[in-house]
Amino acid sequence: MREVVAVFGAHPDDLDWGSGGSAAVWARAGKEVYYILTTSGEGGEDHQRGVVLPPGEIADIRETEQRAAATLLGVKEVLFLGQPDGRVEASLAFRDQIVNVLRRLKPQIVVSMDPGHWAFDNFYHYHPDHRATALAVFDAIYPAAGTSTYQPQPDEGHPPHKVREVYFTASSKPNLYVDISAAIDLKVRALISHRSQIKQPERFAGFVRDSAARHGSHIGCAYAEAFRRLEVPQ
Ligand SMILES: [Zn+2]
Repeated sequence: MREVVAVFGAHPDDLDWGSGGSAAVWARAGKEVYYILTTSGEGGEDHQRGVVLPPGEIADIRETEQRAAATLLGVKEVLFLGQPDGRVEASLAFRDQIVNVLRRLKPQIVVSMDPGHWAFDNFYHYHPDHRATALAVFDAIYPAAGTSTYQPQPDEGHPPHKVREVYFTASSKPNLYVDISAAIDLKVRALISHRSQIKQPERFAGFVRDSAARHGSHIGCAYAEAFRRLEVPQ
């Protein structure tokens, strides 16, 4: 059976951080993996060159970097939803955009940032775009995407689709670890593809490995990614 994984994130590199290793493992196992990004990261700077670029220019750079990272991991397609970087709202219009994507791609598994257990103890983690995306994806999955009585505006005409399970990234209460030992090098390379965002690639690579090793220690493997898994009512 065709197995589809839809990975959602707010900005270029968020998805590679949270689940890039798992994406590579799943793609290698024959799953179709899609990346869906809320924004094109046009609010970011070019840290490599230390310059602030016009939004259109930085968006082009970051989309190109994200596509390169996704290609390394075996992701089938990267979609950019075009929401404004830094100003994302969990609006009905945004929810409906996600409902249309879910109904079109028909994923059994959705990967997205955890909208639960928000501690507000870290500014990066609780970026407003992360919170808005996490909420909008959660609300789009159930009940909206799976029921014919919910009609997105505009309705692209795809039949309702019930997602089977959600893997939440960046969760304070993980209950599932995916062994990414065979894909850690790809994860590091994918993250380093976001060149405009990284000042010191060597230090950065060490940080990525240390973090994956910490998760790996929970299940006795070298490197892992952590998720909170939740089944969707059918
Ligand atoms: Zn982000």
